[in-house]
Amino acid sequence: MIALVLLGAEGRMGKAVGEAAAEAGDIRIRLGVDRGADVGAGAGKNPGSTRGFAVYAQDGSGERTEIRDGELGRVLEAGDVVVDFSSPDGTREAAIACAACSVPLVSGTTGLTSVQSQAIEAASRQVAVLRAANFSLGVLALRRVLIAALRSAPREWDVEIVERHHRNKADSPSGTALLLAREAARERGWTEAALRFGREGRIGARPNEEIGVHAVRGGSWVGDHEILLAGAGEWIELRHVAQDRGAFARGALSAARFVTGAGPGLYTLDHLLNPSP
Ligand code: NAD
Repeated sequence: MIALVLLGAEGRMGKAVGEAAAEAGDIRIRLGVDRGADVGAGAGKNPGSTRGFAVYAQDGSGERTEIRDGELGRVLEAGDVVVDFSSPDGTREAAIACAACSVPLVSGTTGLTSVQSQAIEAASRQVAVLRAANFSLGVLALRRVLIAALRSAPREWDVEIVERHHRNKADSPSGTALLLAREAARERGWTEAALRFGREGRIGARPNEEIGVHAVRGGSWVGDHEILLAGAGEWIELRHVAQDRGAFARGALSAARFVTGAGPGLYTLDHLLNPSP
C-alpha cells in the first residue's frame, strides 16, 4: 500500500485525487495538506481565524492540525510520495521539502514561473519528480496525433489552439495549451517567439511563423483543448474534452506508483507509458 501526502487536498483536483485513491485499492491518502483549509475558530496562533495552513489525516478521524510554513518538510516526510495540485508557490515549497527529506514528488500544478520550475528541476537531482501539465491519457494521445497531423498536412497550414476552462482557473493560457503550442512550434522548427497569445486591434495579415493560443473562461469547463490546422478552404480540428477531473486524478495516481519505484530524475507521462528498457 502506497502512503500518499496530498498537497492542495481541499481543492478541486485534491478532492478528485482523494476519490480516485479511495477507488484504487493500492494507494491511501495518509495526510492532506491545504493552505486554505478550515482549521476551526481559534485554531493555531490566530484566534478567530477559521482558515489556515492545515494538515490532517484522511483516515476518517477528522483531526486537523494547523502548521506553519517551515514545518512542511516534516509533514511531507510522512508519505511514500507527495502529490501536488496546489499553487505555484506550493509546488516550489513542496519541491524543496521533498528533496530535503528524500520523498518523490508528482506535481500537476500549472502556471509556474521559471524560478518555481527551477525548484522542480533542482529537486529532481535528489528524488524522482514527475511533472505534467495534464495527466489525462487522452491528452497524451492528442499530443501524438498533433505531431502526426503536422507531418501529414501541408507545411503552410496555420496552427491555432483554443482552450476552454472554468471561470475560476488561475492561469492563462492553460499549461496544456502551452505544451501543445510549444510541441507544435518545435515540430515546425520554430522558437517560442512563434507563440501568439490572443489578438487585438489592427493586426494585419497573420504571419506564417505563428501559433495562435486563445483562452476561453467561463462556467464549469473542466478542460477542453482544440487544435485547428487551417489551409485555404479547408481545415482539420483535433479536440480533447475532459468531462470530469477523475481522468487527471487517475493519471496522477499512476504517476505516484511510477515515482515510488524510480530513481532521481525529472519524468513526464511519456516515461510512465513508455519506460526505457
Ligand atoms: P483549486 O484552487 O481548486 O485548489 C488548489 C488548492 O490548493 C486550494 O484548496 C488551496 O487552498 C491549496 N493551496 C494553494 N497553495 C497552497 C500551498 N502553498 N500549500 C498547500 N495548499 C495550497 O485548484 P485546482 O482546480 O484543484 O487546480 C490546482 C492546480 O492543478 C492548478 O495549477 C491547475 O491548473 C492544476 N491542474 C492540473 C491538472 C493536470 O492534469 N496536471 C488538471 C487540473 C488542474
